[in-house]
Amino acid sequence: MKIPFCDFCVKSGILCQKCRELIDSGRNSDFDLKISRILLEEASRIRELEKIEFKKAHVEDGFLLILSNNDGVRILRDRKEIVERIIRDTGVEKVTVVDYRKDQKRKLEELVYPSRIVGLSKVWLPGNITEFKIMVEGKELDENQVQKLEKLAKKLGINVRIQIP
Ligand SMILES: [Zn+2]
Repeated sequence: MKIPFCDFCVKSGILCQKCRELIDSGRNSDFDLKISRILLEEASRIRELEKIEFKKAHVEDGFLLILSNNDGVRILRDRKEIVERIIRDTGVEKVTVVDYRKDQKRKLEELVYPSRIVGLSKVWLPGNITEFKIMVEGKELDENQVQKLEKLAKKLGINVRIQIP
């Protein structure tokens, strides 16, 4: 498993200088440390987790976005018990996993999962800014949740307006 911190620091809770600097510099957060600890603990039980790279987490009003690799997206979708533990231990209401290496369109697909993108267009705004407009289908998204997803997308450097039916 690849995490931003040393395994030992995560397990002991006492950070070496290198790990401390990740937090002090703002590159990673205490929340990232918490997620790293959960994943490490679960990996002793679920061997498959060794394939995961955990890069960073973003939180927006109860929505947790985990940046991971392709295996991370697959495993955390399959293994509901891990996501349930993350929700229990951190108090968030929803967990989404995105592969940070994918292009913007694929990131958006993963961001809105399990809803599906049924329409997508890209517009260029003044100042060389691009913005996606996507139409998603799925029963569980309301306006409030859409706003949280748009804010999380922004943290990934993606401007998007999400429309629901
Ligand atoms: Zn360390």
